Amino acid sequence: MPPPCIRCETQRVINLETARKLGIAAGALAGSLKGAYTSLYYPGRLLTSPFPLSRIATAVIAAATGGIAGAATGNQLVQHLFPHGEGTPWLCLGCGHSFRVLN
Ligand SMILES: [Zn+2]
Repeated sequence: MPPPCIRCETQRVINLETARKLGIAAGALAGSLKGAYTSLYYPGRLLTSPFPLSRIATAVIAAATGGIAGAATGNQLVQHLFPHGEGTPWLCLGCGHSFRVLN
């Protein structure tokens, strides 16, 4: 049961720890897809590559590095929402207020 927002008293709050994990997963996935897509479909690289296998290897490497960068971005995006202090971080979806509740 989430705590009510301390500002507007709505119970539409999300756990920022969960949001951060989801942000990392979503960021990693987006980064991977973007990296793989760019390396496979970038026309210049496609035409100059002599071996099809090297293109796949490039796509895998690009997906891995893109995933790491994406995960870091997802983490940072949520991280700056975290309020200072101790306890479980919550974000109110009603008014955007973030606060912590000590367990
Ligand atoms: Zn609120």
